[in-house]
Amino acid sequence: MNVPASAQDRDKRYRIRYDQTKLQDFVDCPRRFQLRHLLEQDWPAPAAEPLVDAERAADLGRRFHLLMERYWRGLPIRQVDPALEPWWQAFQRSALDLPGTVRRPEFNVAAMIEGQRMTATFDLLAFEPGGDAVIVDWKTTRRTPRYVLDRRLQTIIYPLILVESASRCLGYPVAPEQVTLIYWFAGEPEPGATEIFRYSAARQADDRRFLGAVLRRLFSMDVDAWPLTTNERICRWCQYRSLCGRGVEAAALGEENAEVWPDLDELRGIMAEAAASDDFVL
Ligand code: SF4
Repeated sequence: MNVPASAQDRDKRYRIRYDQTKLQDFVDCPRRFQLRHLLEQDWPAPAAEPLVDAERAADLGRRFHLLMERYWRGLPIRQVDPALEPWWQAFQRSALDLPGTVRRPEFNVAAMIEGQRMTATFDLLAFEPGGDAVIVDWKTTRRTPRYVLDRRLQTIIYPLILVESASRCLGYPVAPEQVTLIYWFAGEPEPGATEIFRYSAARQADDRRFLGAVLRRLFSMDVDAWPLTTNERICRWCQYRSLCGRGVEAAALGEENAEVWPDLDELRGIMAEAAASDDFVL
């Protein structure tokens, strides 16, 4: 494979628009970030098998998000696709505790965080001008354990980016304690279940430090082939595993194991160490 010089990599790093997905790739595996976002390498292998089931699950997820967008824009829902009916029913049964009257589906936000422009698109933002704000994220995958969600870059970046950008994008400043992130799960075992993360000033400070360490590490990468994750279980769901010599068999759809995700506390320690070292490699 043709691997560009690290100087070219570095140049491209500055042009990328960072979001939770890209940074999650980097935290999961620096090599995956490099292959996907710097080299724009095609995916030689499916992420999960059977492929047709994985593609169908992704397609259903996209269509459910479109349905939610339509609903929250106040557009008429005359007929729901039968394939989405169980999720739609679960949504109608659930009573989300949302503040105020303003509802903004597919809401785009951007903010400078630790010197880097970060972007996010919330599935739904609900708020009362001058008051509390709730970010809702629709999940059509299996329910993810809370302790795993707590470590995900999405949980770190979404509330932070809202607090940092509120004056501009909402027209009033929002304190961390006014922000809540809700994950809503359509699927089994409990359709309509939620996980709720209330934000705080302490968490904001912690998350800023963590993101700063992640970004410093990303921009300090100075090798042609970025390091492969040491957690090889992650590779089972990665489309690049044949390029990395990490197996050819995909994991089964729905087989996700929470243990494949790095522990956030552990990561924070690693990043702190990385920030203090010139030659440390993730
Ligand atoms: S297969 Fe594993 S090592 Fe290779 S890019 Fe994917 S996660 Fe990283």
